[in-house]
Amino acid sequence: MTTAAAYAISAPDGRFAKTTIERRELGPHDVLIDIKYAGICHSDIHTARNEWHGTTYPCVPGHEIAGLVAAVGSAVTKHKVGDRVGVGCMVDSCGECRYCLMGEEQVCQRGTTMTYNTKVSEEYQPGGVTFGGYTTQVVVTENFVLSIPDSLPLDQAAPLLCAGITLYSPLRKWNAGPGKKVAIIGMGGLGHVGVKLAAAMGAEVTVLSSTLSKQEDGLRFGAKDYFATKDRQTFRDLRGRFDLILNTVSAELPVDDYMKLLALDGTLVILGLPDNNLSVGPFTLAGYRRALAGSMIGGIPQTQEMLDFCAEHGIGAEIEIISADQIDEAYDRAVGSDVRYRFVIDASTM
Ligand SMILES: [Zn+2]
Ligand SMILES: [Zn+2]
Repeated sequence: MTTAAAYAISAPDGRFAKTTIERRELGPHDVLIDIKYAGICHSDIHTARNEWHGTTYPCVPGHEIAGLVAAVGSAVTKHKVGDRVGVGCMVDSCGECRYCLMGEEQVCQRGTTMTYNTKVSEEYQPGGVTFGGYTTQVVVTENFVLSIPDSLPLDQAAPLLCAGITLYSPLRKWNAGPGKKVAIIGMGGLGHVGVKLAAAMGAEVTVLSSTLSKQEDGLRFGAKDYFATKDRQTFRDLRGRFDLILNTVSAELPVDDYMKLLALDGTLVILGLPDNNLSVGPFTLAGYRRALAGSMIGGIPQTQEMLDFCAEHGIGAEIEIISADQIDEAYDRAVGSDVRYRFVIDASTM
């Protein structure tokens, strides 16, 4: 087994503290990764603070992992020592169900093993629960290890493993591209990547943000237009405009107002997950054949496709690098939207 330095939280109202964790012995198909960077996702914060309930403590979050292969099991063919690699939200699945066979491992019918906070055997992960990326090393089965192309800096690539695929998958599913008008609601960790991706796909991109405070950034990332949703006039001016709207905001939104911004056959996709149920008027949907949909990350093949696309188009996340002892502070700032646009932990500070 390998002992790794880690930062763990031990109670919903606790603070992160330095500790050590064990990683399992390398099996034939396992890859040992020296983690270089780990992004901080809002899901980490919800889980660390038990806001979604069901958190097992101590908890080591982190599912935006970038690093280098340190060792491989005897049967590994996909990766070799020294390769630049990433791990996203999942580390395993059954590999046999209809969805795994389709490369949609995130909805494995026997249950996806998430990168952290999934109960597993002691042999799989000493401690009986998966530990994520806020650590120096991780062991992952080769099929769930992504290749990070050379042209993508590892620190900017880390957030792509969750934020990137979360936006890339619906943009592909609903055919963002030339001639399509795409709106992104929210200019945070998710939204800013969505702007870059949709623009690189050739779509005409509009940002819908509560204020215009990040307008300059939005236009620089490739948006053509930028509107403040605090201004009610926005909803009158943009009525019936968009083919696709991606909602990256998890705060409660007037969904019906946003649905009315869709053109004929337009789709609004929910990516941010508010606590409350959504309310949409039936006439809003029926009149223009509008659709309300949802999406959550994406499968392993598409995650690799996303990383290759980002490398080809020079897309990385906008990041602020922090040391491991700043995680609590970063959480508070992320909750207050005080980050442009994703915190990334430098694992050498563990
Ligand atoms: Zn995430
Ligand atoms: Zn499966």
